[in-house]
Amino acid sequence: MDVFGLLGNPVGHSLSPPMHEAAYDELEVDGRYVTFEPAPDDLGAAIEGAQALGVAGLNVTIPFKQDALAHVEPDDLAARIGAVNTIDFADGGDSASDAADDPPTGHNTDAAGVRRSFAHHDVTLADRDAVVVGAGGAARAAAFALADAGATVHVANRTVERAESLASELPETTAGGLDSLETRVPDADVLVNATSVGMEEDRSPVPAETLHGDLAVLDAVYRPLDTRLLREARERGATTIDGAWMLLYQGVEAFELWTGRDAPVNAMNEALRARL
Ligand code: NAP
Repeated sequence: MDVFGLLGNPVGHSLSPPMHEAAYDELEVDGRYVTFEPAPDDLGAAIEGAQALGVAGLNVTIPFKQDALAHVEPDDLAARIGAVNTIDFADGGDSASDAADDPPTGHNTDAAGVRRSFAHHDVTLADRDAVVVGAGGAARAAAFALADAGATVHVANRTVERAESLASELPETTAGGLDSLETRVPDADVLVNATSVGMEEDRSPVPAETLHGDLAVLDAVYRPLDTRLLREARERGATTIDGAWMLLYQGVEAFELWTGRDAPVNAMNEALRARL
């Protein structure tokens, strides 16, 4: 049996176990997906212990995504984003004994979560004007995903210095405060809300009057699924993509990294949405 899991604190309400176990059921993979809550100082020991026990793969969530970088061999994208949300223990060497000696590889599948959410909705990103609202972990993944896909990115964040810092790491990327949304969103093709505004509350970080019918809007917030931003965008004719798509596709990407198989996207999506 292959053991997969999630490192975070807290992880009690995580939707990853049912989503991944639905994939194992669908493809008849002999696997289990379990959650772990190490103490903050024990992250390195937890990862080493998982490797010693033969755990196949781990997801990593708050508060460990940045600190996990120091305990893995990050791929290029995870290193650039500065956060790891998926650890693969299997590909550290050519054989099981080699793999046991090498650090596991670290990936950031939140970026693929953004890219594949747009692809699923037939939204192309190359040569498009994109606005990312936020400059935290989700925003960094979104900004790198959009820029790598060929979009021109503007980062708008409450704390302008964080937006400027993120923009300086990407080609042709501009930055501003939330007030820059007034001028940037009307001309944008793609918008991602990667702030926590709208989570468990009926607020939107984007002025409703800036939204329009040529826009595709992804809200990373998934509680609630239908945020005020998405409602207001839909009312103005925009394509709307809820946060469960991003959550789904980061999990799909992790499953595919770990198993080398195409993930059963529909089964994983159904399991996820049944719990939201
Ligand atoms: P984070 O690193 O803590 O970043 C939070 C961001 O929200 C920062 O840009 C922060 O601005 C901004 N913010 C917070 N409160 C604000 C307010 N009152 N007004 C304006 N801006 C505010 O968090 P994160 O990990 O990036 O997560 C952000 C959201 O994305 C959360 O809702 C999370 O659940 C969601 N998320 C979803 C997925 C998914 O798969 N769907 C994946 C990851 C995260 P400052 O820099 O000014 O503080």
